[in-house]
Amino acid sequence: MCGIVGYVGGRNAGEVVLHGLRRLEYRGYDSCGIASVHGGRVEVRKDTGMLDEIEARLRLSGVRGTTAIGHTRWATHGGVTKENAHPHLDCTRRVAVVHNGIISNHEELRRELEARGHRFLSETDTEVLPHLIEEHLDSLPLEEAVLRALERVEGSYALLAISALEPGKIVAARNESPLVIGVGEGEMFVASDVFPFLRYTRRAVPLEDGEVAVITREGYRVLDRRGAPVSKRELRVDWSDEEARKEGYPHFMLKEIHEQPSAVGAALRIYPEDIAKLAEMIQRAERVYLAGAGTSLHAAMVGEYWFSQLAGKCVIAIDSSELENKAVVDPSTLVVGITQSGETYDTLAALRFARAKGAATAAIVNVIGSTATRIAEHVVMQGSGIEIAVCATKTYTSQLTLLLRTAVELARMEGRGTEEVEEGMRELPALLSKVLELEDEIARVAEGFFDVQNYIFMGRGINYPTALEAALKLKEISYLHAEGMSSGLLKHGTISLIDENMHTVAFVPPGGSNRRRVVSNIQEVRARGGRVLAVCSGEPVQGDACIALEEVHELLTPLLFAPAFQLIAYHVALRLGRNVDRPRALAKSVTVE
Ligand code: GLU
Repeated sequence: MCGIVGYVGGRNAGEVVLHGLRRLEYRGYDSCGIASVHGGRVEVRKDTGMLDEIEARLRLSGVRGTTAIGHTRWATHGGVTKENAHPHLDCTRRVAVVHNGIISNHEELRRELEARGHRFLSETDTEVLPHLIEEHLDSLPLEEAVLRALERVEGSYALLAISALEPGKIVAARNESPLVIGVGEGEMFVASDVFPFLRYTRRAVPLEDGEVAVITREGYRVLDRRGAPVSKRELRVDWSDEEARKEGYPHFMLKEIHEQPSAVGAALRIYPEDIAKLAEMIQRAERVYLAGAGTSLHAAMVGEYWFSQLAGKCVIAIDSSELENKAVVDPSTLVVGITQSGETYDTLAALRFARAKGAATAAIVNVIGSTATRIAEHVVMQGSGIEIAVCATKTYTSQLTLLLRTAVELARMEGRGTEEVEEGMRELPALLSKVLELEDEIARVAEGFFDVQNYIFMGRGINYPTALEAALKLKEISYLHAEGMSSGLLKHGTISLIDENMHTVAFVPPGGSNRRRVVSNIQEVRARGGRVLAVCSGEPVQGDACIALEEVHELLTPLLFAPAFQLIAYHVALRLGRNVDRPRALAKSVTVE
């Protein structure tokens, strides 16, 4: 779940790697470090904390030489300490390794290596790697030493290794953790994703599981597990480095919230053929699972309502990490993985499981060249642009837009009319802009309402998942306790928690039975002394506070409410002084199990 970066070329490698780590910091950030090769020695600087603090203290970028590797860590094995920070070295300090993932047989390997006299300095699973490589270093070139070492290793890894004996060379290896080579002129890059090198090159070569790459400033070679050459195809990345800047906004999250009209507009323009193919796959399948984690799971849950209500098709939203335990997967099943990064470990595992069972697979993905785009048979790209804040905002509304378009397409194929929804769908960018214009009012209401530690978010029908996603936003970045639920469920237990220290946020659709029901649930809460903030489409309702938005078709309200609850979470977190873009303990793409 961390980020890794490597550079070899004519520049000062420490500076290039530091820039790359800044671009990756959103992935994980409890410690970081850089190693370079210079004058026949490996030099390492590393520590715990945020990148900028460590840079100020240790000048990571000051490592000498033109070959370097770097790491930002999200600890899985061993506490957050300087010793456990990467890069890790072998006993002779000739090899440095950075690693993303988990070496599952590390205990056994460590015992074995210790018995042969190796001395370990950290508690990490990673440290077995440099020691294993060390055993072959005197007799083999670095790439072969790495291949030998990997014969012993089980688990997931993206790793980079450098050696004092071979300056000007980085060896990279991948199994179940992302790794991409960036191809420059007289310089080469390698990293967990493309962001670290977009400033220098748009040419990218993603590695596949089991591949090992030998990277020098002149170029790269890719080998398979047995050391045989593999030929690779290059991708051109159309994102620019400028997109990864804040452009005057104080936080990436706020910038990305405000990008929603254009991100949703882009999702509305994604090729109709791509959407039609997904709709056909859904139509053909006997059973359809929309698999996601976190925000993507909530998008899938909204999708369930669209497919049933617009197209009459039962699809099942499922937590990717439970698919293997719960789903009935056979050749008549379709599994659609929804993953912004295309690297979410659990969603990739769900797609791989589906493939192994002979099921059809598709994916809705934002990051070009990511693993999900290569595992799934059919891919619909989100086209949302780079999302840097850990907390997903514009990629959620983009995913929703694509699911809605697919449901509308399926309805059309089934001969069902959806004119009203389709018309509203075309207005979505303008609609979202109007919600964003209310930012000051939303911030003011949030200011007055969010003054306790505990919150319930509730909604009915298609806004049941809205309640879950809104609660997740608040929790993620403000660290306040929030629970999302269907408002119908409240009286089956949770209502006993209502008092002056437990406020409720209710999502109220325009006219119709769900409005009536949510309004009566609001009364039930208020009757028990609870304060309620109503976020409504159409007429305001009576509560302790109210944010009234445009009146839209009920099936479009999840898209209307999203920017409102995202702004609420943002302003509450801001007031509490939280690190909005990089909340504690979270990472943007969860690439470990
Ligand atoms: N398992 C390794 C560790 O805990 C790597 C974690 C990561 O991917 O950042 O150090």
